[in-house]
Amino acid sequence: MDIHKLKNLNTKHKPSWCPGCGDFSIWHSLKKTIVELGWTPHEFCVVYDIGCSGNMCSFVNAYGFHGLHGRSLPVAAGIKMSNHELPLIIVGGDGGLLGEGMGHMVHFIRANHDVTLFLHDNQIYGLTTGQTSPTTEKGIKTKSNPHGGIEIPINPLTLAITAGATFVARGYAGDPEFTQQLMRKAIDHKGFSIIDIFQPCVTFNNHNTYSWFREHAYYLSDQEYDRSDKLAAYGKSIESEKLPLGVIYEDTSRKTYEEELTQLSKGPLVKQSITQRDVNKLLQEFM
Ligand code: SF4
Ligand code: MG
Repeated sequence: MDIHKLKNLNTKHKPSWCPGCGDFSIWHSLKKTIVELGWTPHEFCVVYDIGCSGNMCSFVNAYGFHGLHGRSLPVAAGIKMSNHELPLIIVGGDGGLLGEGMGHMVHFIRANHDVTLFLHDNQIYGLTTGQTSPTTEKGIKTKSNPHGGIEIPINPLTLAITAGATFVARGYAGDPEFTQQLMRKAIDHKGFSIIDIFQPCVTFNNHNTYSWFREHAYYLSDQEYDRSDKLAAYGKSIESEKLPLGVIYEDTSRKTYEEELTQLSKGPLVKQSITQRDVNKLLQEFM
């Protein structure tokens, strides 16, 4: 690994995450994946949601857009449709993307944009200091649920498979090398890919700790089942006694949204010429 290229992806800002936070590891895995892909900062874009994970926007030297809470997905769709040749990654947390942004999430997934999403899943609202999030386990006591939450948690894997994701995986911030390998596979996949990354929040989640994950998660073997079998993948994704890590589901047969959109058949919109006359015509439509 070329350390200079890795450092080139840093900015002048030092991460503000709590010492020991899983976000450090995911940040590092992301940068290593970018170096491995040979991308320079102007050759890709990252859209960030609000949350501790989204603060990464200040720490990665690349095109970046920090969206509103849960609203990063429509921004990402807009960027992708403007320039579908630009690789696009989304970084966000369980709170923003599965809470405030849940409506966007389902529709973004079913579109099959050629975009990769890294879900920093710490099972808590971290930035707002420890409230129950959509992935918090039932019964866990938090600031917002001092007697323990009543709802069952959302499972990001089953959600993604059901909504039509074409690549679904689960990573773990406690194993950056493994997560990096998954990131590479997710980015290489053509179509919407998502990695639900277990990301211990060492400050506000004292239940799902590094040692808890070591005890409760296991690595899937490549031979375990056919990853293109949706039902088998669904069955794997609902396992709860031991939580599977690795690629859960992959469908390589479906076209991406950008491939299906006829307006993009001549190439990215940003490369198509537009005249003053076109602009005036467009503006008149809105008058
Ligand atoms: Fe990480 Fe939790 Fe601290 Fe946020 S509050 S930086 S998620 S440890
Ligand atoms: Mg969270």
